[in-house]
Amino acid sequence: MVRIENVHKSFGGLPVLRGVSASCARSEVVCLIGRSGSGKSTLLRCVNHLEKPDAGRITVDGELIGYEDRGGRLVERRERDVERQRRDVGMVFQRFNLFPHLTAAENIALAPRKLRGLSRAEARELAVASLERVGLADRRDAYARHLSGGQQQRVAIARALAMEPKVLLFDEPTSALDPELVGEVLGVMRAVAEQGMTMIVVTHELHFAREVAGQVLFMEDGVIVEAGPPEDVLVRPRHERTRAFVSRTL
Ligand code: ATP
Ligand code: MG
Repeated sequence: MVRIENVHKSFGGLPVLRGVSASCARSEVVCLIGRSGSGKSTLLRCVNHLEKPDAGRITVDGELIGYEDRGGRLVERRERDVERQRRDVGMVFQRFNLFPHLTAAENIALAPRKLRGLSRAEARELAVASLERVGLADRRDAYARHLSGGQQQRVAIARALAMEPKVLLFDEPTSALDPELVGEVLGVMRAVAEQGMTMIVVTHELHFAREVAGQVLFMEDGVIVEAGPPEDVLVRPRHERTRAFVSRTL
């Protein structure tokens, strides 16, 4: 579903991604782990073209993201095209950025109305169905500001689901939450995974990775040091650097 081939990215001469290749099959959950500054967010942001790779290719469902291939030469897509592609690639951030003065359902209905041209009633129906998927249908008319952090993040996940993306990217979705709220969000992510969503998740929650991921990628200094099933990467890492990271994080 997602294919990342030899992606490079530098910021002002500082190489942040130095030839990253990875892939994520349909309905697979890939967890991306690694130290702060290793390039995890940058890689995720390349997948929906919030960052432009300097070199390499990324495809989602076979379609080249951000560029068009004109006989081997990559030409930048028009902004409108990139926006259309972004609809297939949902993103959930550490900070959920809901509108506090709108209800849960209203927050979710905004984008489908604007970007998918749904009527008010259709968008409302979709919002409620999405809230059901994250176990919050009963809070549909609560103002976002009255929800707990964990509930707000679940609404943010429902908001992403409402766009019916082909893949959902998560960038440390539980890092900003109080510890007692982490479990409910991980539980919802697991449920969404079980519904068959293709997911790439940057996380420090190695227990979640072990239980839910089909594949774990350990990244350091802009390269993927080790990739494989969680029982290998997290339990029997081959590389010393992975071992050091895992033993420190678990
Ligand atoms: P963390 O775990 O702290 O979120 P990360 O693995 O997600 O870290 P990135 O955010 O991808 O790391 O950043 C990798 C490196 O790229 C860092 O050194 C960061 O300072 C740098 N960087 C990221 N975005 C930019 C930017 N827009 N401009 C300049 N430097 C950037
Ligand atoms: Mg990051």
